[in-house]
Amino acid sequence: MRSWPTPDIPVLPGDGVALTLHDTAADRVLPVDTGLLTDAGEVGVYVCGITPYDSTHLGHAATYVTFDLAIRQLIDNGHGVHYVQNITDVDDPLFERAERDGVDWRDLGTGQIDLFRSDMETLSVLPPRDYIGAMESVDEVIDMVDRLLSAGAAYRMDDEYPDIYVDYTFTDQFGYESRYDEETMAGFFAERGGDPERPGKRHPMDALVWRAHRDGEPAWESPFGPGRPGWHVECSAIATNRLGSSFAIQGGGSDLRFPHHEFSAAHAEAAHGVDRMAGHYVHTGMIGLDGTKMSKSLGNLVFVSRLSAEGHDPSAIRLGLYEDHYRRDRDWSDAVLQRAEERLSRWRRAADAAQRLPADRATGLVAGVRAALADDLDTPTALDLIDAWCRDVGTVGAGTEAVVDPGTSAGATLRTLCAALLGVAL
Ligand SMILES: [Zn+2]
Repeated sequence: MRSWPTPDIPVLPGDGVALTLHDTAADRVLPVDTGLLTDAGEVGVYVCGITPYDSTHLGHAATYVTFDLAIRQLIDNGHGVHYVQNITDVDDPLFERAERDGVDWRDLGTGQIDLFRSDMETLSVLPPRDYIGAMESVDEVIDMVDRLLSAGAAYRMDDEYPDIYVDYTFTDQFGYESRYDEETMAGFFAERGGDPERPGKRHPMDALVWRAHRDGEPAWESPFGPGRPGWHVECSAIATNRLGSSFAIQGGGSDLRFPHHEFSAAHAEAAHGVDRMAGHYVHTGMIGLDGTKMSKSLGNLVFVSRLSAEGHDPSAIRLGLYEDHYRRDRDWSDAVLQRAEERLSRWRRAADAAQRLPADRATGLVAGVRAALADDLDTPTALDLIDAWCRDVGTVGAGTEAVVDPGTSAGATLRTLCAALLGVAL
């Protein structure tokens, strides 16, 4: 699948700082395990992509902006990064929406993927090197289902529809990623796309990896008969085929903590015989609107494309998302956007004023922002540091310091800092 254009990232002088991130499985902030590099010596990052049945909204965008931030800090610290993302372009919610709206599900998916790409480009989000649709990865899923059957982890249903499920008790470590107890897992499984009531399964919580063909549904040929991939195994296959059976970071929204990330990890671990698919399982908070959860059913979605069409600066959208920490469920409102636009204007005025100042006036700021962002992407602290620096610059009167080359001034350093580490253009 075509990705989107790569934004320019200027090189920030000086040394970056080693990134730490919160790992859901450990429930604490840990250094990113750079011992888990890909065969090419890069940090492997896999972030679960969209199911293209509804326009990309700010809640989605916040997730991808978060991992863009993480990748920017890794690059600043001298790492190569192999970033992979999927698109679940074959799944029940997509079919249901297409049927409701009387459109072909392929056309619906294509239109939504285009919109997503354009939003990501608008926000200067770094694109994945591998952007892989479920339809493109059917052969990979077939191969992984085959491995799961050979390992004895998967079994075929013996009825009208020979679906294939994985026995969730096959790996001893099942449950380590979400850290939920059985009852909580069972609740989320039923709520988030699972089928505990399907008769004939070994356990109600076993997850589908291959769905046998039903009338009216798309299907692909396979050694197990015609059908289509399950959701979790799609990510297991796409991630591990590109990043290796164990890689550094698996990311997504907090609603993916269970069942999706738990099962993606368990399927990959059963198929490859490893203890742990990802070094870090990183989850972003949900975005609400004016105190209410943003959701399709409530009709209160904020769209990046609409904000952009209304003339709001993409850098201000980013700053609005940075106002609070990525792991917190947080609120979007006109007031958040207004504060972000005012902040962006102050920073731009300060960058202009600081063109009169030598670059070393920004040395402490660069070190402080690097340290804050490396500390589990602490954007509120990074924004506070830049605010304080810009206030100080505002008190420097014209002509009070030596005139310097604007290209090597403290103002230029501030612009490079914001562009490289925050994706914000001053
Ligand atoms: Zn996924």
